[in-house]
Amino acid sequence: MTADATALARTLTAIDGRGYGVYKQLKGSYDLGVCRLVVDHVQVDPYAPPSLMRMVVDPASADLPEDLLSDHRGRVATTDFLARAVARAAAELGEGISTGAPGQEVLERTSVALTSDVVEARLAVALPAAGRRIRGREAARLLTEDLPRLAQSALLHANLDAEALREHVTLHRDQEALRDQLAERGLVAFVGDGAILPRRAGDSDLPLADGAVPFASPSSLRVEFSLPSGRCVSGMGVPDGVTVIVGGGYHGKSTLLRALAKGVYPHQSGDGREWVITRNDAAAIRAEDGRAVTGVDISPFLTGLPSGADTRAFSTTNASGSTSQAASLIEAVDAGASALLIDEDTSATNMMFRDERMRALVPAEREPITPFVDRVRPLLTERGVSTVLVAGGSAAFLDVADHVIALDEYIPRDVTDQARALAEHRAPAPAADVFAAAHPRTPSAGSLRPPGKKKPASARGWGTIRLGHEHIDLSALSQLVDAAQTQAIAHALDRLAELLDAPGPGGAPLALEQATTALCERIDAEGLDVLSPHHGHPGHLARPRPLELHAAVNRCRGLRLERGPASSDVR
Ligand code: ADP
Ligand code: MG
Repeated sequence: MTADATALARTLTAIDGRGYGVYKQLKGSYDLGVCRLVVDHVQVDPYAPPSLMRMVVDPASADLPEDLLSDHRGRVATTDFLARAVARAAAELGEGISTGAPGQEVLERTSVALTSDVVEARLAVALPAAGRRIRGREAARLLTEDLPRLAQSALLHANLDAEALREHVTLHRDQEALRDQLAERGLVAFVGDGAILPRRAGDSDLPLADGAVPFASPSSLRVEFSLPSGRCVSGMGVPDGVTVIVGGGYHGKSTLLRALAKGVYPHQSGDGREWVITRNDAAAIRAEDGRAVTGVDISPFLTGLPSGADTRAFSTTNASGSTSQAASLIEAVDAGASALLIDEDTSATNMMFRDERMRALVPAEREPITPFVDRVRPLLTERGVSTVLVAGGSAAFLDVADHVIALDEYIPRDVTDQARALAEHRAPAPAADVFAAAHPRTPSAGSLRPPGKKKPASARGWGTIRLGHEHIDLSALSQLVDAAQTQAIAHALDRLAELLDAPGPGGAPLALEQATTALCERIDAEGLDVLSPHHGHPGHLARPRPLELHAAVNRCRGLRLERGPASSDVR
């Protein structure tokens, strides 16, 4: 033990039994030999959020192979590998240390940092207490013995499984290289042969262990990819355009669509969805009644509401199933989604289609809703937005589909030709130009700031963000996969508020899309740490997609927009 570790142990032993507040003096930096321990924040009492600490290792002693760190993707995958190693080692030590452990997805995250200067694990440590008294001896063991051992086993290449690390990075690079090729190959997504799509349980993201039927692509949709490592994968390409998934109940339709939705993120080896790769701007859309909507042009789907409300700038504090789904769809498209993923199970039926007899009974001019079946093609031709849709219950979508995939006991068949033979050739909807213009919205300064005392926004689990007195409900966002993403979004709301408060170029306020783009560019340039208001230890954050960031802003009940030309001129 170096002098510093001895001194730290002595200090902790000396304060054994004293009031918990005395721990405060720990803030600082200690040389523990294998690592430097930096205590950034000490909790005020045993029940407060745990203390924030970093274990910092010199890159020369970590000795990570340079070729693994030569690109952004390599660094993301290596970070993820180390974060998992830290989490495993911490779990062996027992309770008390949280590490921001990754789930099945491999995401850019802050729980481990790799720079040219440091290899660093960021921890949250509950300092030991008996009631409100310090357990100094236990704390000394934890900080001066357990943590160095943890750094030793999880941050030094010599002690890691070098082969597994290399495979982890290679897989990640291959997955992202495949994703890069999707657009040029005219595909929304790829599902590899042999993939295991079903999960163990509704509340588990692990692969179904027993009786899972591996994915097998229909020959007409089979594509192959050659990847940078030399690996070649084959599977089903989901083409651009309108793809409808049909099949009997319980034949795996929703499971396939959910896998496509999660496929916007790379999955770790053993997940079963390693080769389910979806364009990263694909948006899962669902009905979400009760959500707030602020100034969204839902007129492609709704006009002439009985209330007389203007659907070109529609606002409500309590959307219906159909208005919520229409608003979420338009918001996603305006935020840059190039593909939509929609499941009948979570859709508002009246938003999706209307059958012939109902069209006859309720004349068009009495029906405010133009269903999605009539808009799915204009969305494609006018905006270039593809749709993958599960529709087992209605034949209406067969008329507008480019491809129809039938699931039969979890095995897909290409039934496009049969479906075409059955399709009723309805007169194509007139060229409507309904989706022609995006409507950038400019939030008014301060509208993302909670009134009164400015407590920063914070996540409550993965599905909720607290902003002032408001709870922003994100539980309908199925592509938000990690509470660390939610925490990152909470911080991002504060950073967005700063951007929106400051005048943009030319003195005009920034539109929401411009502000999110600016923030994402800043993350690209400076790293995810920039979201956090804290220097040193940023907390456990994982990178959200711009789509989820938009979605969170759009669900703020306090969101207000600038009126007048500013909101319609900016494009
Ligand atoms: P649908 O949407 O067609 O009604 P689901 O996707 O909800 O069907 O799947 C029904 C059940 O079948 C779920 O419990 C799911 O986990 C399981 N399942 C889905 N795909 C597979 C598969 N490939 N192998 C085994 N079970 C599967
Ligand atoms: Mg279903």
